[in-house]
Amino acid sequence: MADREPIAVIGTGYVGLVTGVGFAQLGNDVWCVDIDADKIARLERGEVPIHEPGLSEAIVANRDRLHFTTELAPALEHARLAFVAVGTPPTYSGDADLSAVNAVVEAMPASDNHALVMKSTVPVGTGAAVKRTFAEQGKGFSYVSCPEFLKEGTALADFMSPDRVVVGDDGNWAGDAVVDLYEPLGAPLVRTDIASAEMVKLASNAFLATKISFINEIANVCEETGADVVEVAKGMGFDQRIGSAFLRPGIGFGGSCFPKDVTALKQLAGNSGYHFQLLNAVIEVNELQKRRVIGKLEQGLGGLVGKRVALLGLAFKPDTDDMREASSLVLAGRLKAAGAEVVVYDPVAMDEARKLIVDAKFTDSAIEAVDGVDAAVIVTEWPEFAEIDWVVAASAMRGNLVIDGRNHLDRDAVESAGLVYEGVGRGAPAE
Ligand code: NAD
Repeated sequence: MADREPIAVIGTGYVGLVTGVGFAQLGNDVWCVDIDADKIARLERGEVPIHEPGLSEAIVANRDRLHFTTELAPALEHARLAFVAVGTPPTYSGDADLSAVNAVVEAMPASDNHALVMKSTVPVGTGAAVKRTFAEQGKGFSYVSCPEFLKEGTALADFMSPDRVVVGDDGNWAGDAVVDLYEPLGAPLVRTDIASAEMVKLASNAFLATKISFINEIANVCEETGADVVEVAKGMGFDQRIGSAFLRPGIGFGGSCFPKDVTALKQLAGNSGYHFQLLNAVIEVNELQKRRVIGKLEQGLGGLVGKRVALLGLAFKPDTDDMREASSLVLAGRLKAAGAEVVVYDPVAMDEARKLIVDAKFTDSAIEAVDGVDAAVIVTEWPEFAEIDWVVAASAMRGNLVIDGRNHLDRDAVESAGLVYEGVGRGAPAE
């Protein structure tokens, strides 16, 4: 392990921290850099600023190889490879906001011996633009595109067992060094040019989002025709050309990646003169899917004014505290606008949610959340919601409607407690 290459990771968010900790686990010394002094101070104290299974334990186990700093210079003294994992959120136009990436590029010193390794998701052409900037500024930095595919909730496990590693470069020392770094993971390697590596990431996320919107539309047709989408998805998924992953209908995708990456690819295409029709539909279906829940509540409750609705699960998916673009934000906002009272609960995302959801009642458990409500909505499929005692819940609720936005509950358990169950695409109610 002693000869593993030291690296710097710039940006210690979900991707940067997991990448840093993952490489420390592989035996690399890692300098984690962030401009957020509070985050760095917390990490130095051993506090982990995000909820990610196994991450705290891995930080403790690899503490000797992890170094946290707000300064770029000491990190680059030790490491010739600088992984960049800063945020690339959407701008108002839907293009990726590259200001944090550009700030890092500007902050890099002149050096012929360093390389910038891009982990952030960026539009195709970013690598070429950064290389031009380096050349204009006489910095001599090499550039490698190494997009990240980890999933929040299983991020560290995904880092250690990736489906593939993609390295886009000019065929110089830096690309070789990145390939060496990932070699112990034994994953299939796609070594390609920079633009193609950038596109692999955007196209992968756009395809997955398309699969979700597709099965959501199938679910909606199932609701009209009496078929059960769970059975349909099972039957489809055995076909190896289709695969069973991402065939779970629900109330739409959210999170920090799919919505922004799909829009960024649509914008990228548009800016290049191509109208990406399919992605327009993917985005629209996703928006409509959230509104369908509001429609079901309106119909089931006979209007929303003065009705009390519990949202169970606020994070954009289970096992994370990430609230970025979470469906719960849209639902809470729409319900308030329609005159309903909103009660919320999430097992881990309450602190983040308090910053984003105003004018809702925050509670400490699912059972407390459903107390006195007319309807309960499963927004995020946290495992603990599958364990809810619906007999207890039914006696606490004022009304009897349960909308299972993730097809997560045992329908029989809900219905035998005397409640009305409505999933997504589960066919017509028994006649
Ligand atoms: P994040 O917001 O959690 O973390 C970004 C970090 O960068 C923050 O801690 C911020 O303080 C820091 N930062 C910003 N400017 C900086 C600078 N100039 N110098 C040093 N640090 C700086 O973001 P994230 O979710 O980790 O995403 C990072 C990138 O990875 C994005 O491009 C995202 O699209 C991509 N990505 C994310 C995921 C995911 O699941 N979150 C998966 C794959 C790819």
